[in-house]
Amino acid sequence: MIERVRVAFGTGVVLGMWEGQLEVRPTTAHFLTYHEGRCRANCKFCPQARESTSDIRRLSRVIWSHCRLEKVIEALNKHSHEFNRICIQAVNFPGVVDELCELVTHMKKASSLPISVSCQPLRSKDFRKLARLGVERISIALDAATPELFKRVKGDGYTWDGHIKALKQARIVFGNFVTTHLIVGLGESEEEMIRTIQFLHDMGITVGLFAFTPVPGTPLYSKRPPDITSYRKIQLSRFLIVSGKKRVEQMRFLNGRLADFGMDREALKRIVRSGEPFRTSGCPHCNRPFYNESPRGPLYNYPRRPTSDDLKVIQNELGNL
Ligand code: SF4
Repeated sequence: MIERVRVAFGTGVVLGMWEGQLEVRPTTAHFLTYHEGRCRANCKFCPQARESTSDIRRLSRVIWSHCRLEKVIEALNKHSHEFNRICIQAVNFPGVVDELCELVTHMKKASSLPISVSCQPLRSKDFRKLARLGVERISIALDAATPELFKRVKGDGYTWDGHIKALKQARIVFGNFVTTHLIVGLGESEEEMIRTIQFLHDMGITVGLFAFTPVPGTPLYSKRPPDITSYRKIQLSRFLIVSGKKRVEQMRFLNGRLADFGMDREALKRIVRSGEPFRTSGCPHCNRPFYNESPRGPLYNYPRRPTSDDLKVIQNELGNL
């Protein structure tokens, strides 16, 4: 029996497990497997990585405290109506599949919310096991936008081909309910990122965008977060692609930078004014407030509908469309 699970700070506040001020409430309840020691993989941006010297309580900017599973299940029982989804994230350690199965079983008893599991590539039979237990979605984070970049930042433990194969196998088990995450700002060009979004979308995978976040104690700590204009262009392109309005082949690039969305300017402005492209992307109803950014900004992913003031800022960041 698992005794502990880690709980994201904002999730713990909504669950009534501790007090805290929340600028925006999380719409997904986020949990992370508890494991003494670090992840077996060694992704260069991740505070959980094998060789990272970061505070082990962190994942991206968020602090995750470990709590007694019993308490968490009790709190989830009372408060699950305050969320739209549960996300169980897993680090890579021996026995992780059994642990995930146990967590899912307990959480299913406490709540009827859809469950996403975010994990390393697993064997098909493990995907099937999780599906049988009632997991709605699987997420396998590709993170890097190209095979070369993948090798550089995640290659000590994983391969691009292994991740793509796992995403395809997950599709067979979970159908349209497979998510991946891409991190903008690891060193790819806008063109590489947008082409990979199209590639994954064509595979039937839901693509969520993250902005690279330098975390102390990781090898990439000295790297800067992505340029906000570039991030906005990628968010807008992702939105056009996933909503079927445009394909990457209709866009124009110049030296790796997006030069033209291939869309009528007025129509594009209307989409910008909707604010939708700039909201947190990934599994439905996941807003991950301030996962990548300080509430002081810049807000890479809006965890709520952007206000009219936010839209002015966004339009400014996008420059002359
Ligand atoms: S998009 Fe949200 S719910 Fe889905 S895997 Fe990522 S963090 Fe979890």
